[in-house]
Amino acid sequence: MRPESATLQEADNEVLAPSGRVKIHIRCRKCGEVFILRGLRDGRGHVETGFRRCLCDNEREFDIETLS
Ligand SMILES: [Zn+2]
Repeated sequence: MRPESATLQEADNEVLAPSGRVKIHIRCRKCGEVFILRGLRDGRGHVETGFRRCLCDNEREFDIETLS
């Protein structure tokens, strides 16, 4: 049993430095599907979106662009 919201909750606990909401543009390299998500940037430049995988089950091959 895996809680799907675990990564989002972890992000909330990791707000150490100036953070903010940013827009993330994610494009799947396998099927070309595009996702526009709102993410939360933490103080280390990591952006948490809660995005897990594409519709085609691709989990790691993405072009990710921060629109902020
Ligand atoms: Zn895909």
